[in-house]
Amino acid sequence: MYPISEWIGKISYFLFMGILLLNIAQKRSGNRGIRKRTATLYLGIATLILYLGAGVILNAPRLFRITLTDLWILPFLGALFGVVYLYREKTFPFHRRCVKCRAPLTLHQIVMEDSNLCSRCEEESSP
Ligand SMILES: [Zn+2]
Repeated sequence: MYPISEWIGKISYFLFMGILLLNIAQKRSGNRGIRKRTATLYLGIATLILYLGAGVILNAPRLFRITLTDLWILPFLGALFGVVYLYREKTFPFHRRCVKCRAPLTLHQIVMEDSNLCSRCEEESSP
């Protein structure tokens, strides 16, 4: 009856759990990764809002005594992606390449460290 909303609700639930686990793992990097940890927190909040939105569409007949069509999830999803994109400086500080020399970064450097520098540039910049 609501195939898109059900699917998005399930996906966002597991995505939210994954983002929370990543956020907990990021705690190890301490102050060196505080920006990226905040970013995963924002992404987690966005995913939770998506999960709640899908839940509202699925349960609208019981909650509000109105029936929402399945396609309401699409403008909701679009608005949510729009807000995340608008604040992309805060929500996506992850770079795949070194911001100085364009060398590819390791997964640890991409996810955990705010500097977005490869180990060589990191050594050069630190006094
Ligand atoms: Zn570099």
